[in-house]
Amino acid sequence: MKALKDKILTEGIVLSDHVLKVDSFLNHQIDPFLMMEIGKEFANRFKEAKVTKILTIESSGIAPAVMTALTLNVPVIFARKRKSLTLIDDLLTAPIYSFTKKETNEISVSNKFIEAGDQVLIIDDFLANGEAANGLVTIVKEANAHVAGIGIVIEKSFQNGGKKLRELGYRVESLAKIQTLANGKVNFANEEAPLK
Ligand code: 5GP
Repeated sequence: MKALKDKILTEGIVLSDHVLKVDSFLNHQIDPFLMMEIGKEFANRFKEAKVTKILTIESSGIAPAVMTALTLNVPVIFARKRKSLTLIDDLLTAPIYSFTKKETNEISVSNKFIEAGDQVLIIDDFLANGEAANGLVTIVKEANAHVAGIGIVIEKSFQNGGKKLRELGYRVESLAKIQTLANGKVNFANEEAPLK
């Protein structure tokens, strides 16, 4: 997605060979116009997938997930990273190891919001080793629902999350695929899913 790649090139900061900082439009300050475009793009790519719910994880997945949900006209559920006093329903849970924080958290979703038979589109900001996306897949399965697909804003193709998820048979659509972050520069992968 060109607008996203341009934004990454102008505002992204390469922190290391493995980490890209995009806190001026996605991870801290949010560019609502770009998020709207991202939402329309995901909605278009998954328009045939009969999505009934969108599942993401707090906090940076929420903006692109909500924008996608507006176009697909479905609700958004975000998995919580910490236990909440008000989250007292039966919970669907999964452990995930955080790449950026280097710690394992149990994520949870009330079983009230994902039902057997739901077609769930998983959305997240980054895909690295696939821990977060895998945790969300686990939650969908615990609910006896179906994964309609996985939409990622920025995939780092040099880490193996995308490969693992695709080998498991999931449709993963990434709007920007980064081949390397070597020498302080962002290099995009040439291949990108065609616009439909
Ligand atoms: P994974 O679970 O696929 O290993 O990593 C994805 C999660 O870690 C995302 O939810 C994102 O929050 C965080 N993450 C992984 N790599 C990066 C990165 O390069 N930059 C930022 N800002 N977040 C990242």
